[in-house]
Amino acid sequence: MSNLPECSKCGSKYTYEDGNMFVCPECAHEWSQSTENASNSDEKVIKDSNGNVLSDGDSVTVIKDLKVKGSSSVLKIGTKVKNIRLMYDGDHDIDCKIDGFGAMKLKSEFVKRI
Ligand SMILES: [Zn+2]
Repeated sequence: MSNLPECSKCGSKYTYEDGNMFVCPECAHEWSQSTENASNSDEKVIKDSNGNVLSDGDSVTVIKDLKVKGSSSVLKIGTKVKNIRLMYDGDHDIDCKIDGFGAMKLKSEFVKRI
């Protein structure tokens, strides 16, 4: 047997195949071999305030006044933000540049896709 993945739970190298599953003898974790089936389940999807799925490059508007961290400026409701970049870690999930503000991080719950 070649190319057996390490256990995704405990990192054990002693995994073995059992039918369509991989099994870890050390922590009893079992998982599916087919990455195609499993691929979407734990992939995070970032949605705007209306529940629309956002993607890189989308344009959004801000749906409420947001205080800009580290400055006295306020990002006004209705501000257009072009060409967003999604970030899948941290609590701010949108990275963007806004005219007059520069680089900013926003939360997807406070924007809506245009
Ligand atoms: Zn394990």
